[in-house]
Amino acid sequence: GSLGTHEEYTVVPPHIGYKKVLVTGGAGFIGSHVAEFLLARGDDVVIVDEMNDYYDLSLKRANLALLREAYPDETRLKIYEGDICDENLMQEIFEVESPHWVCHLAARAGVRPSIQDPYVYIHSNIKGTTLLLELSAKFGVKNFVFASSSSVYGGSKSTYFSEDEVVDNPVSPYAASKKACELFAYTYHHLYNLNVSGLRFFTVYGPRGRPDMAPFKFIDRISRGLEIQKFGDGSSSRDYTYISDIVDGVVRAIDRPYPYQIFNLGKGSGTSLNEFIDIVQKETGNKALIKQMPDQPGDVPYTCASCEKAHRLLGYKSQVSFGDGIRRTVEWYNQAYIKNTIEVCPERQANGLGRAP
Ligand code: NAD
Repeated sequence: GSLGTHEEYTVVPPHIGYKKVLVTGGAGFIGSHVAEFLLARGDDVVIVDEMNDYYDLSLKRANLALLREAYPDETRLKIYEGDICDENLMQEIFEVESPHWVCHLAARAGVRPSIQDPYVYIHSNIKGTTLLLELSAKFGVKNFVFASSSSVYGGSKSTYFSEDEVVDNPVSPYAASKKACELFAYTYHHLYNLNVSGLRFFTVYGPRGRPDMAPFKFIDRISRGLEIQKFGDGSSSRDYTYISDIVDGVVRAIDRPYPYQIFNLGKGSGTSLNEFIDIVQKETGNKALIKQMPDQPGDVPYTCASCEKAHRLLGYKSQVSFGDGIRRTVEWYNQAYIKNTIEVCPERQANGLGRAP
């Protein structure tokens, strides 16, 4: 690709040893798992998260409570509540905490809401990322790893999305904001020699997964005997990636600084919507009530990651099959929502996601 560098052919040995990592969006789905992994292996973690109510806030509170309970010591885990676009707060965090490693996962996610309100995406995703890049360059961060998205490929018809061969085609404000993050990251690498890796995640699911995403929605609604909306004829296919695979890829990227790289992180094979519904029916033991819907604007009909580059340069290889991943997610769902170990807040009720009967 035009932004590739020839360093890409040099495989970097992992940086082993203690790190203090700033994890933005650490109260969220992927961020809380990454933080948990880093803490477990002995790194220290600083989280910044604004705790917005884009989805059920009680889930984010539960994520933080879980981490705090396991790591009560503030020198191991420090939590800041605030907006990554708040210059004073972020400057203070870099001054006080001196994190030399940044894992930037905070963002406004979701494709469809970005069509309704693009400006919040420009704020959190583009401005937020740029401020973090600025501070990371200024404070000598050793490696800046951030979340991009498979959505930057957009409506591309390729069988496999490969980072340096498939031309980007962002078809939603969300996708455009992620592409903009990649461009700004390149610029800051170029200007200040900041090491940056952008990770294009392919639909991530698993325990603590986002209630606005299909895997959670389908498990939730099929478990409770509620109707699910099926967009299109069910032949559309996506690459669904289990959370532990994503955490592995993120941590591999943190440990191996490259000057500038974009990596796909996915499972590397697609699952059709029809197969997906079948597997959720099997794992929940319930029959799905299906409401047929037309295709959605902004949605991508087909996503499948080529993970060859992540394999070559990071040693990444997805381990968890879709069936196993859904089974583990259903187990978590039953614990959290059927046994009610997560407090339900009004937002969840408002979203029609109230407690299972
Ligand atoms: P998430 O919504 O669970 O986590 C994001 C967190 O960032 C939230 O806790 C939110 O409160 C926080 N946040 C948002 N804007 C902020 C701001 N301005 N300041 C401080 N905190 C802010 O989402 P996730 O699924 O864990 O996604 C993590 C990252 O991965 C995001 O960048 C997302 O775009 C990207 N991504 C996710 C997927 C997926 O399938 N889950 C796919 C592709 C990319």
